[in-house]
Amino acid sequence: MQAPSVGGVMLPRGKGETVRLSRGASLTDFAEKINANPASLVQVMLNLGEMVTATQSVPDETLLLLGEEMNYVVQIVSPEEEDRELLESFDIEFGEDEGDDQAMLPRPPVVTVMGHVDHGKTRLLDAIRKTNVIEGEAGGITQHIGAYQAATEVNDQERKLTFIDTPGHEAFTAMRARGAKSTDIAILVVAANDGVMPQTVEALNHAKAAEVPIVVAVNKIDVEGADPTKVRGQLTEYGLVAEEYGGDTMFVDISAKQGENIDSLLEAVVLTADAALDLRANPEQDAQGLAIEAHLDRGRGAVATVLVQRGTLRVGDTMVVGDAYGRVRAMLDDKGEQIKEAGPATPVLVLGLTNVPGAGDNFLVVDEDRTARQIAEKRAARERNAAFAKRTRRVSLEDLDKVLKAGQVQQLNLIIKGDASGSVEALESSLMQLDVGEEVDLRILHRGVGAVTETDIDLATGSDAIVIGFNVRAEGRATQMADREGVDVRYYSVIYKVIEEIEAALKGMLKPEYEEIELGTAEIREIFRSSKLGNIAGVLIRSGEVRRNTKARLLRDGKVVAENLNIEGLRRFKDDVTEIREGFEGGINLGSYNDIKIDDTIATYEMREKPRS
Ligand code: GDP
Repeated sequence: MQAPSVGGVMLPRGKGETVRLSRGASLTDFAEKINANPASLVQVMLNLGEMVTATQSVPDETLLLLGEEMNYVVQIVSPEEEDRELLESFDIEFGEDEGDDQAMLPRPPVVTVMGHVDHGKTRLLDAIRKTNVIEGEAGGITQHIGAYQAATEVNDQERKLTFIDTPGHEAFTAMRARGAKSTDIAILVVAANDGVMPQTVEALNHAKAAEVPIVVAVNKIDVEGADPTKVRGQLTEYGLVAEEYGGDTMFVDISAKQGENIDSLLEAVVLTADAALDLRANPEQDAQGLAIEAHLDRGRGAVATVLVQRGTLRVGDTMVVGDAYGRVRAMLDDKGEQIKEAGPATPVLVLGLTNVPGAGDNFLVVDEDRTARQIAEKRAARERNAAFAKRTRRVSLEDLDKVLKAGQVQQLNLIIKGDASGSVEALESSLMQLDVGEEVDLRILHRGVGAVTETDIDLATGSDAIVIGFNVRAEGRATQMADREGVDVRYYSVIYKVIEEIEAALKGMLKPEYEEIELGTAEIREIFRSSKLGNIAGVLIRSGEVRRNTKARLLRDGKVVAENLNIEGLRRFKDDVTEIREGFEGGINLGSYNDIKIDDTIATYEMREKPRS
């Protein structure tokens, strides 16, 4: 049979078969699935009026359109689905309890504390920990492992509750974004002297979207001017009506600082859980659950706090957590005591993993080490592929010469962001005077004062532009976005250097050099003054991870205010740590540098030799 032609290109046309493609697949991935030449798919897209390279990750619509054009039914598979299928291929089902109704026993609720910054989330978690944590055998001091269990008496019965000890909806949302349901109930903390604030509403919306019942803790009632009634009134506008007003949300007035009414709050949480949820799990099966927090410990290797959601986790079990695996060498509870087993809704610190999993990764116990290794390796490979597929080759200064020779671009597009309008203009006019020869056009698509933003990266992505940051850095998620989209963002602080490099690139003579790799950013939320160490920044890690002894710079409103700083000290709660990940809070000491302000960003980076492309 002769292959029919689509849009003038000969193609093995489908017969309406279903082709399954991962989200973010490229035309090459598609071609592989149907045994076609990637170039022919590029051609089909061209005929459809879209220019797509073979290895570039394309949106769902493009894959669907292409499928339709060639008579295939394209099914886009999400990463979660893909993972489910991977586990199915090992005959493992994740997320459902095994056994019938009788196998299911009541379990404690898992609670997250959310609310506006400074309304007392951390203080509340500390207050509960102090007064309600179940006494350990040795009466041990509680350890911060990312979650802990507390207990309270309700109707003469001791009831346990599990608290996720990383306040804020960032962690909650990050986990949810990965398809992980970590929380049964949310405590929404609202300071009675401040009322409903933007992050209160944000947190509330996140909890609602996740269909998690909410108990409102009206905090700081000890403060003068506290108005708990007003908080109740404000929240009715968002659909949270207090029981005493005929609604079904429990409001409890508390003072986290004075430890007042904490028991009533816990009771309200238990009662809300009893009324709204049927929290049961099978403790008898192989354990499954979620990683809540993990880090590399110098002495103990990879350690992860996991929340057992069903089954019982035991020392000696073989487990997979995300793309890490291993045999549980030891388990510690939230009091730092060694335990042998952990049942549903128990958080435990696990030692013995091969590497550090991510927060929100699922974990499961399997029968054989080999299975664990295979699942972990497949997941790691999938992540690598996805990351690779996304690194589409856009224009960078290093390969400009090659791209120009190949006739792929005739124009170098630039976006310039700088710290002051004077410098931006000076830079622009010097660049425009560059003698760039006949073949290539230098165009400045956009220039402006301020940080390199996600909008800039968007623009660069759409037009294959190179972004120049002159005495400014990227803000928010712009760096990750640029990495993902393969946009070349370059930072300079001297004009002639910009001119020199652009000129060299145009002449194809750019030397390989050291490039700066951004490691993480931290937002300063509080400043602690220590007589010994100077100012300590209380931070929330906004992206990546911050590691001790790496280089850093300080940004204020997107502008660099200090360079060449060093992360001298890094703490999480009372402990010195080597790194803190995105979504977590901690303390940073910048050595002798003390000129920090709330809302400043600490960006850390390291220099790596850029490979010649
Ligand atoms: P978070 O940002 O929501 O975690 O807030 P924190 O727990 O860090 O609390 C912010 C500030 O409010 C801290 O200085 C606390 O000591 C203070 N605070 C928290 N709860 C109370 C309270 O019930 N009464 C008073 N007076 N201050 C409180």
